[in-house]
Amino acid sequence: MSGADQAPDEFGQIERLFRPLTRGAPEAFDLLDDAAAIPGRPGHDLIVTKDAMVEGVHFLPSDPPDLVARKLLRVNLSDLAAKGAEPYGYFLATAWPRTFGWEARKQFASGLAVDGERFGLVLLGGDTVSTPGPLSLSLTMLGWAPTGRMVRRSGARPGDLLMVSGTIGDGLLGLKAAHGDVSDPDGYLAGRYRVPNPRLDLREFLRATATAAADVSDGLIADAGHIAKASGVRARIELERVPLSAAARAWAAAQADLFEALSELAAGGDDYEVVCTAPRPLEGFTVIGAIEQGEGVELSWRGETRRPAKSGWKHG
Ligand code: ADP
Ligand code: MG
Repeated sequence: MSGADQAPDEFGQIERLFRPLTRGAPEAFDLLDDAAAIPGRPGHDLIVTKDAMVEGVHFLPSDPPDLVARKLLRVNLSDLAAKGAEPYGYFLATAWPRTFGWEARKQFASGLAVDGERFGLVLLGGDTVSTPGPLSLSLTMLGWAPTGRMVRRSGARPGDLLMVSGTIGDGLLGLKAAHGDVSDPDGYLAGRYRVPNPRLDLREFLRATATAAADVSDGLIADAGHIAKASGVRARIELERVPLSAAARAWAAAQADLFEALSELAAGGDDYEVVCTAPRPLEGFTVIGAIEQGEGVELSWRGETRRPAKSGWKHG
C-alpha cells in the first residue's frame, strides 16, 4: 500500500471505488441511500441471478484483481445470456481480507469499470465488510426480458435438437494451462478460463426459438443434464459433433483414448457457452444431439451408446 494513497474509511471506499460504477444512474442515488429504487420497465420481467466467488475456490490468490472482477461480472452475465435477458445492472457484496489492500481494491474496481462500461451495466448498491477469511465476492445481476419470455430449463421436448454455442472444453483446458499442465503458447486457453465471454449475442435467437436453455458453467454434460431433469426428458449427446477449438482438438488428438479425452472436455466446466434445445437448428449454435423420451444424459460415440458409470462411461 503506498503512503501517498492510504485506504479511506468504509464510506470513502464506497464513494471512491463504487460510486463511479453507478455511471450516474438516478435509481442508485449515488450510493448515498439505504437502497436503490428501480422503476419497472413496461412489458418486461426483471430477471435476477446471483453468483458468488471465493479466493482459493473460484480463483487463485495470485490472479490479478481486475480480472477477478471481470470474471465475477461475466459469469453472472452468462446466466442472463442463457435466459435470453438483456443486462441492466448489479448489486455487489465484497468481504475484504486485510491483506487485500487499497491498491488491490482499486484494481478490482477498475475491472468492474471496464466491463461495466462494455456491457452497459450500472452498479445499484451492495455491502462492504471485512473478513478474517479469504476474499469473498457475491454479485446479484439484474436484466430484463419481455414478460413471460425468459427461456427456462424446463421446456425441452422429445424430438427437439440439442445444441451448443461456441466451443467446449476450453475452460477446463484453460485451468490446466494456468496450472502449467497443458501447453498454451498463445494464451488462448488461459484467456478463456480467466475472462469468459458471455454469449449475450445469442439472446434474440434463444428467445425466438429455444424451448430450453442453460449456460455451460458446470460442464456440457452436467448442464445438458440440468435441462433434461427440469424438462423430464433424456438428452443424447453425439460426442463427435461437440464443437472444439483448434487448441482443444490438438489436445484431444494427443491423448491415449479419444473417447475418454472428448468426454473429459464435455464434462469440464467454465466454458460459459449456452446449451439449448429447439425444434429446428438455431443460428449461432452447433447441433450436438437430440432430446428423447427418458431421463438423464446419454453419450453416443461412433454409433454406440455409452452411459455414465461411477468410473467414467460404460457401454449402454
Ligand atoms: P447499510 O446502511 O445497510 O449499512 P451501507 O452503509 O453498507 O448500508 O451502504 C451505504 C450505501 O453504499 C448503500 O447505498 C449501499 O448500497 C452502498 N454500498 C455499500 N457497499 C457497496 C458495494 N460493495 N458495492 C456497491 N454499493 C455499495
Ligand atoms: Mg442503511
